[in-house]
Amino acid sequence: MSTPSAVRRSPSCDAIVIGSGPNGLAAAIRLAQTGKRVVVYEANETLGGGSRSAELTLPGFIHDTCSAIHPLGIGSPFFKTLPLEKYGLQWIQPSAPLAHVWDDGTAVILERDVKTTARNLGRDGAMWMRIFSPLASRWDALAPMLLGSLLRFPRNPFLLGYFGIGAIWSAKFFARTLFKNEKTRGLFAGLAAHSTLPLEAPLTASFGMVLALSAHAVGWPLPRGGSQKIADALACHLKALGGEIITNTRVENINALPDANAYLFDVTPKQLLNIAGDKITGRYKSQLENFRYGPGVFKLDYALDAPIPWRAKEALRAATVHIGPTLDEISASERATNEGRIENSPYVLVVQTSLFDDTRAPHGKHTLWAYCHVPNGSPIDMTERIENQIERFAPGFKNRILARSAMNPAQIESRNANYIGGDINGGVQDFFQLFGRPVWRANPYTTPDKKIYICSSSTPPGGGVHGMCGLHAANTAIQRAWRG
Ligand SMILES: Cc1cc2nc3c(=O)[nH]c(=O)nc-3n(C[C@H](O)[C@H](O)[C@H](O)COP(=O)(O)OP(=O)(O)OC[C@H]3O[C@@H](n4cnc5c(N)ncnc54)[C@H](O)[C@@H]3O)c2cc1C
Repeated sequence: MSTPSAVRRSPSCDAIVIGSGPNGLAAAIRLAQTGKRVVVYEANETLGGGSRSAELTLPGFIHDTCSAIHPLGIGSPFFKTLPLEKYGLQWIQPSAPLAHVWDDGTAVILERDVKTTARNLGRDGAMWMRIFSPLASRWDALAPMLLGSLLRFPRNPFLLGYFGIGAIWSAKFFARTLFKNEKTRGLFAGLAAHSTLPLEAPLTASFGMVLALSAHAVGWPLPRGGSQKIADALACHLKALGGEIITNTRVENINALPDANAYLFDVTPKQLLNIAGDKITGRYKSQLENFRYGPGVFKLDYALDAPIPWRAKEALRAATVHIGPTLDEISASERATNEGRIENSPYVLVVQTSLFDDTRAPHGKHTLWAYCHVPNGSPIDMTERIENQIERFAPGFKNRILARSAMNPAQIESRNANYIGGDINGGVQDFFQLFGRPVWRANPYTTPDKKIYICSSSTPPGGGVHGMCGLHAANTAIQRAWRG
């Protein structure tokens, strides 16, 4: 770990970004677009934060260390404006975004097409159409509001209002009230459980709605070669704009950094307090100290001899598979996690990238990415519980394992200091912290110090690889930091 004095000084610069996650890189790009000379300092040897890939198991098997599936990446209003394809980013759309597997050997498939999905949902099909069809067809207008900075009045309040009517509900209430079939309820619960909140909490329906909508509107793609390719493309674009990235340099004290007009922190409140020291004081300091972190994740990556032998063969059409399966099981799992307990049959998220991207594993072999939510900082080894859950829907899975890598919350945090206690979203995203993120403040990207900004997923719109927190923070800095 670098000491403050070890921070390599770059020639003079206008702005410094601390952390090269998707938000840090997005912030740096936005600043560089306006002609600012930007330097990014990254603690790790490799850049990209939560958008990285590595050979975690065996040579030739490329695993996504964090993010794997990117509806918010392909759907990001900012990324869309950048020439990322020119720098090697190639999205792969699996034949279906998601499969939700059931004990009876079937899978409910969330298809790209709303109508085809609705056809699979029997008597819930008409309701699925009514909720999602008008919103999915207007994703281009909706996404900038959902991924907005909350600083402006929404451009289309009626469209946002239509979304909001369902979004404010708890996922459990939403699913039970609107859907009649157990399988539709389970499908929606699996989507909403990405929130890592108890499914009884208000607003959890919004997570399920956004993920379903994005599946219909833009798909759930993976980058060819691994999620590192997103970060690499952002980094190449930044360098082309004149930006500099210095890796292997952990910033521990803001005073050790070169002078600049603006410091944008792609870190969470706890780290900002440590790094900025006495520059953060008073009420704002105590508000940051009260910022809450959410449950962590326990992550597994596998090298497999063959694809997962799902009982429901159609699950091989999707890169992402949710294992719950019922609304009650998923909500029990998420409730337990939020209450500091472990469920024996946890809700598990599975991604099988090598089925769609032949660069991920040697010919005929496969990779598998899986995680479940656990209490923040939990030291409990979830390997057996996760494997039992996969085996339950894919008998023979365990026989296909060639090698595995397991990471508990502490190990995840040791690879990326932003994942406090294994929390992958930069803090709880409940009602108070989704909008008041990191604190309730007219402009959440600012701090009381005119030179210090926060640009990580601890600001709106929150977790995910979309770069929108970075964009909004950089726009704020551009408006304030160079004003006399
Ligand atoms: C297991 C897992 C699965 C996920 N799956 C998905 C998914 O499928 N799709 C999706 O969209 N999102 C997913 N996410 C979430 C996504 O990765 C994050 O929301 C996103 O990366 C946040 O971006 P960020 O730039 O705010 O922070 P990060 O990506 O966390 O980047 C922060 C960077 O700052 C660096 N840093 C921290 N402290 C310092 C310091 N003191 N000095 C210098 N550098 C520092 C870190 O090393 C890191 O590189 C997942 C995350 C995890 C962990």
